[in-house]
Amino acid sequence: MSRILVVEDNLLNYELACDLLELAGHRVLHASTGEAAITMALQEQPDIILMDIGLPGMDGFEATRHLKSMSETQSIPVVAVTAHAMKEDAERVFSAGCSGYLTKPIDTRRFVAEVEAILAAASPASRAEAQGNTHE
Ligand code: MN
Repeated sequence: MSRILVVEDNLLNYELACDLLELAGHRVLHASTGEAAITMALQEQPDIILMDIGLPGMDGFEATRHLKSMSETQSIPVVAVTAHAMKEDAERVFSAGCSGYLTKPIDTRRFVAEVEAILAAASPASRAEAQGNTHE
């Protein structure tokens, strides 16, 4: 079970993601703006953040840069969720500090597995393992 913050301004998109994640046993938190996502990430320390890029006001790139600039939230993996699947967007996603990205509309058969794979790759245990391997 992981605590997953879903940042999404479209309620139907949020409800679909929430249902899929809760069915898989995860606990889901919701924010509908970048500003609310930052506040909630600071307060709740989720295990991972799914970040919609198209948000009113501060967009997902800007919110991610804020999260990555603060010591309290910089280690939380952020996964961009974007309707734009073009290469230049992928480059922006990684340069903003995201650990990966998913494209919308989400693939309901693969969504949870993709989120869990990114979470596993970014977990403290696997980071420690990667660091250990580097020093061998
Ligand atoms: Mn949106």
